[in-house]
Amino acid sequence: MIRISEPQLGPDVESLVLEVLRSGRLAQGPMVERLEELCAAMAGAQHAVAVSNGTTALDVALEASGIGPGDEVITTPLTFAATLNAIIRSGADVRFADVSDDYTIDPDAVRSLIGPRTAAIVPVHLYGLPADVPSLASLATDHGLLLLEDAAQAHGAAVDGVPVGAAGVATFSFYATKNVTAGEGGVVTTDDGDVADRIRLLRNQGMARPYEYTAIGQNLRMTELQAAVAIPQLERLGSIIATRKANAATLSAALKHRSDVTLPEETSGRSHVWHQYTALLSEGHARPTVVESLAQRGVQAGIYYPSLVWDHAPYRDSRQVLADPTPRAARVVRQCLSLPIHPGLTAADLEGVSAAFGEVLDSQHDH
Ligand SMILES: *Cc1c(COP(=O)(O)O)cnc(C)c1O
Repeated sequence: MIRISEPQLGPDVESLVLEVLRSGRLAQGPMVERLEELCAAMAGAQHAVAVSNGTTALDVALEASGIGPGDEVITTPLTFAATLNAIIRSGADVRFADVSDDYTIDPDAVRSLIGPRTAAIVPVHLYGLPADVPSLASLATDHGLLLLEDAAQAHGAAVDGVPVGAAGVATFSFYATKNVTAGEGGVVTTDDGDVADRIRLLRNQGMARPYEYTAIGQNLRMTELQAAVAIPQLERLGSIIATRKANAATLSAALKHRSDVTLPEETSGRSHVWHQYTALLSEGHARPTVVESLAQRGVQAGIYYPSLVWDHAPYRDSRQVLADPTPRAARVVRQCLSLPIHPGLTAADLEGVSAAFGEVLDSQHDH
C-alpha cells in the first residue's frame, strides 16, 4: 500500500534521540531550546515557544493574546477540528468566512464578517499553501485584530518570500503526519515578547520562578525526546519541501490532461510546501468509489475534510458557533481527494499513484 503519509526518520534522528537518552535530561531542556531557535528562524519570528502539540499551541496562543468570552473569531470552515475546538475553548464565538478557489480563507469574505465584537482572524495554511497573509494582515491592522495563523500544515511556507508565522502569532504542529514530526508536539511563533513570555509562563503551571505563581497555568511542556526527533527534520526542511514540491509536480504533469479533475496549484507569490496534494473531482465522480478503487490498487487516498468543520452535532448545538453559508467550501468537502506525495515515495510509486488515479477515473466514465 502506498500510504498518504509516512514519517521520514533517518540516522540523524536516531543519534539525536540517543543523545537525549544518554543525557538523563528528558523534559524541557537544551534540545527544546534548540528546536525553538530553529522554529523562530523557520517562521522569521523573534520568539518561538515549544508546547505539547499543535492544538495546545492554538489554545495558549489565544489565551496569551487575551481572546475570550464576548469576542468573535473569524476562521475557515475548511480545517481540522483542532482549530475550531481551540477557539471554542477560549470562550469566544466563532464565524466562518468562505474559502477562495485555492482552498484558503478569502480575505473579502473575512472583511464582510468583521463587526464590533471581532477580535481575531485565524487563517489556516491548508494543505501547505499559505493563505493570503498580506491581505489578512492589513485587515487585522486596520481593525485592530489579532492575526493568528494556524500553520500546522505549513512549516517553511512563505508569501512573497516572507515565511508564514512572521505576521502576528502563528502555531505549528509536529503531529505524526505533518511535514515535520515529533510524534506529537507544537510551537507558537511571534514577534511579541509579551505574548511569548506569557506562553512560557502558561505552559509551566504559571510559575515565574520555582514555586512562584503569577498566572493560572497548566503543563504544556515538550519533552527532549520530541525535540530530538524534530530537530534534524527542521535542519533539512529545505530538502523535505523540495522533494514534496517535485513529487507534486510529477503528479500534476501526469494528470494535467484530464478535464474531470481540478489539480492543486501554487498561487502566485505563495510558496506551497505540499503537505497534501488535493484535487477536486468533477461532480460526476462518486468519491467513495474512487477512494475504494484506489485502495484496491494499493493507493491510500485522504479526504481532508469530509465535512465543514462545524458540521457535527457538538458544534451545531454550540451557542458559540455561528455557521454562515460557505458554498465554495461546501463544494470542496464533497469532492476533494488527496493523493500521496510524501518524500518517501519513489519515482515508481508516483507513477503508480497517477496511473491508478487515471484508471479509476476512466472506469467511472465507462458506466
Ligand atoms: C494537525 C492540525 C492541528 C492540530 O495539531 P496537533 O498537533 O495534532 O494537535 C491544528 N490545525 C490544523 C489545520 C491541523 O492540520
